[in-house]
Amino acid sequence: MKDVTVGARVTANPARACGVCDYCKSGRGNLCRATIILGSASTTPPTDGAFAEFVTVRADQCHVLPPDMDDATDAMLEPLAVALHAVKRAGVVAGKRVLVTGGGPVGLLAAMTAKAFGAVPVALSDILATRREAARKLGVEATVNPASPTLADEVRALTGDGFDVVFEAAGARAALRQAFDLVRPGGTIVQIGTLGTEDIPLPVNQLMVREINFVGSMRYGNVFDEAIRMVQTRRVDVRALITGVLPLAEVSDALRLAGEKTTALKVHLEIG
Ligand SMILES: [Zn+2]
Repeated sequence: MKDVTVGARVTANPARACGVCDYCKSGRGNLCRATIILGSASTTPPTDGAFAEFVTVRADQCHVLPPDMDDATDAMLEPLAVALHAVKRAGVVAGKRVLVTGGGPVGLLAAMTAKAFGAVPVALSDILATRREAARKLGVEATVNPASPTLADEVRALTGDGFDVVFEAAGARAALRQAFDLVRPGGTIVQIGTLGTEDIPLPVNQLMVREINFVGSMRYGNVFDEAIRMVQTRRVDVRALITGVLPLAEVSDALRLAGEKTTALKVHLEIG
């Protein structure tokens, strides 16, 4: 961050934390109450996103990029940072049996990151066959259909007593509920997906009796430079998730394309 010079190619952490509160000072700026993020409707007024030729960010939001990385790859660092932070929230995953619920971009990146960190096996669940297929193409060893009547048997064959870590990236109540059944005693559920602001009933007795750890993961933490190194050293092939590239002038087509859940993962907008 400190070595940002005029003309440098950078990627930006879209979250601008205050930098002075206790959370920021203790390295947990993702929890800063005064954060302003590019492209959010959670504040009043809402903030603009970055579908533009020029965007202003603070220097400390910038992370210098290696010269050999292209723009499409650079733009994937933000979702990778979400996945990387989530995997770190789970603690050590090396050798652990991991399930990711939800085969959207963040779920896929969480599975790929867990695998890069040595998790074995890594499985992914999604009700869409196309997303399970995409996961397998990206190197996820096992995929399951969460609606399958034989799910419990499939999970037993994969893991024995359940998964050590479940990343809930579907942002679906049913997926979170199922995570409590699929995690092993003493295991960890990491909540990445957004489930809205309403309260949700949860099997808290299982949480207690089976000593399940249930932790949240909010955006990125300070992982952008680490994400850059992971991509640069090809630990995670983020480019494989880009299913379309369109110019900025065709932004509405790009958004429509990105909304086609059965076929699209990430659609890249080319600026300039
Ligand atoms: Zn702060």
